[in-house]
Amino acid sequence: MTKKILLCNDDGFDAVGIKELEAGLAGLGELTVVAPDREQSASGHSLTLQHPLRIDERSPCHYAVDGTPTDCVFLGINHIMKAHRPDLVVSGINRGGNLGDDITYSGTVAAAFEATLLGVPALAVSLEITREHHFATASRAAREVALKVFAHGLPAATLLNVNVPDLPWEKLAGFRITRQGKRSYSDVVRENVDPRGRHYYWIGGEVLPGEDLDGTDAALVRSGFVSITPIQLDLTNHRALELLGNWEWSC
Ligand code: MN
Repeated sequence: MTKKILLCNDDGFDAVGIKELEAGLAGLGELTVVAPDREQSASGHSLTLQHPLRIDERSPCHYAVDGTPTDCVFLGINHIMKAHRPDLVVSGINRGGNLGDDITYSGTVAAAFEATLLGVPALAVSLEITREHHFATASRAAREVALKVFAHGLPAATLLNVNVPDLPWEKLAGFRITRQGKRSYSDVVRENVDPRGRHYYWIGGEVLPGEDLDGTDAALVRSGFVSITPIQLDLTNHRALELLGNWEWSC
């Protein structure tokens, strides 16, 4: 039976990355795009509960939603594709890597999280942009990973976070399964004054170099590998359970 694939992103419906993703997955199944109508990067796993959402059908099987990536996946699976739930959700291709700590902020990864919570296998795909923006490489990598997921399935409650270096396909060092690393940003807050004399603040610094831990996602991507990190829904620090279990309580 034809596979049904739901595509989402956090860079917005009109972003280059999701168009390249669609091109890369062509022929693997029936593709349905449900994406935010504007950029929602770093929106995390936020779900819109305080106001209604609109779905704008831009063309057959292409929907723009005035909400977050999580809203898109929720509406995609539970409403738009309700009659035939997707076999796979692919989120991306994000403009910029989702490496190390990035994944807690990422709307791209959150969309895959949401699909996983709803019982649909999912992957998030990001291109670690440097200069040349090789979205075609990430698109081809996404296709290869999607085929592997169809062939092998995914462990329960697990999504794949895929990061692709900004290289031509022929220059890739290979694919590697890895673990989440660390990535830090300078803790910059830019303060300025608006035309009405009020102060405003702009959050966001540059990636700090030299923190790549050997064999982690960020280090592998820097070395030219496509990194594939299995991410689980269970955020419990299992190693800490015993330690905290020794705390004494008053009752
Ligand atoms: Mn983004």
